[in-house]
Amino acid sequence: MTIDLEALYIDLHRHPELSFQETRTAGVIAQHLTDLGIEFEEGIGKTGVAGVIRNGDGPVVWLRADMDALPVPEQTGLEYASTARGTDPAGNDVPVMHACGHDMHVTAMLGALERLVASTDEWSGTVVVVFQPAEEYGSGAQAMIADGVLDRFPKPDIVLGQHVTPLPAGTIGVRGGTQMAASDGLTVTLLGRGGHGSRPQATIDPVVMAAATVMRLQTIVSREIDPRDVAVVTVGSIHAGLKNNIIPAEAKLELSLRYPDDEARAAVLEKVERIVRAEAQASGAEEPPVIVTDHTLPPTINDVAATTRLTAAFDTAFGEGTVIDPGMFTGSEDVSWFAREAGVPLVYWFWGGVDPEAFAKAFAAGTVEHDIPTNHSPFFAPVIQPTLSRGVDALVVAAREFLGAPAA
Ligand SMILES: [Zn+2]
Ligand SMILES: [Zn+2]
Repeated sequence: MTIDLEALYIDLHRHPELSFQETRTAGVIAQHLTDLGIEFEEGIGKTGVAGVIRNGDGPVVWLRADMDALPVPEQTGLEYASTARGTDPAGNDVPVMHACGHDMHVTAMLGALERLVASTDEWSGTVVVVFQPAEEYGSGAQAMIADGVLDRFPKPDIVLGQHVTPLPAGTIGVRGGTQMAASDGLTVTLLGRGGHGSRPQATIDPVVMAAATVMRLQTIVSREIDPRDVAVVTVGSIHAGLKNNIIPAEAKLELSLRYPDDEARAAVLEKVERIVRAEAQASGAEEPPVIVTDHTLPPTINDVAATTRLTAAFDTAFGEGTVIDPGMFTGSEDVSWFAREAGVPLVYWFWGGVDPEAFAKAFAAGTVEHDIPTNHSPFFAPVIQPTLSRGVDALVVAAREFLGAPAA
């Protein structure tokens, strides 16, 4: 019996689950793995699932799909739009939507597994499939690694994965080298001395300290980074004080930092720390500021040789011109932890989910940014076909490229 992939996609789309709560999704996956005769384990890194197809000697290829959805109210107007609700980590009741397309990732992966199981006489080696929770928290991959997924399954020779994106359906976007940025989230607490708003001379004002710090942080990208390089320093949150006539004792800043590689990361982090400390000192702070790293995502770096090889395989399978270089994305991903931890190459590609005609029309009008909803938008709605079939084919082509030939 073959899997009805379109029905599966619609079912997953209607039942999205927040990060680390993907229990129904994991159950659907487990049922299909059972039906396909694939050996698997559940509950890895809380809600993760991993399985293995052993098919003789040869390379071990890891295929990864993420499973989680987002607290976004779906506004696509689709007949199968989500009306689901969930509870976020703060205990709030929130709408839930597959606004990043991870339902497409899971469906395409199950379709690819079905094809790989049906064609074991055409390849040899081992396929390990990883259904990862909580990509949107940036912590699901590390949770699975901490729970021993690299020891419980054959170690990879290469890690492969894909993400649906607002490119025309049919198109694949991939580049060797840095594909997605590294990212850190920092919380900076500036410590002053509180007092009466009428007597500033008796205080150390953290509001002024914060204002100067935010402004000076802007000079990292504009004055200290080579204009040919990419970096982002965003202060997304600033909090201090409760009332106009009280000078508060502290101010909190939340920063989102992005960069293409570890070298740039070290450089930007050093500059942020230098400025934060220096501005505190300039304000006469009696205690140094406290800088806490809330999360770290490594850059998603595609192995250049493996990417060249895979691009050629995609061109052969889908025709010249299917693969484009989408440039580096300033978004971030946690997929590369699996490859980094195992010390093996990674190739992570994007595949299009937008109706090609709608895309061409928006492109001609110069309105792609306005008319084509991106991931995380309440209007994000990949067309089911040819997105799904291309996603299945891409995974099969990629896996087969790095698996071995059948024993003679
Ligand atoms: Zn996302
Ligand atoms: Zn995503």
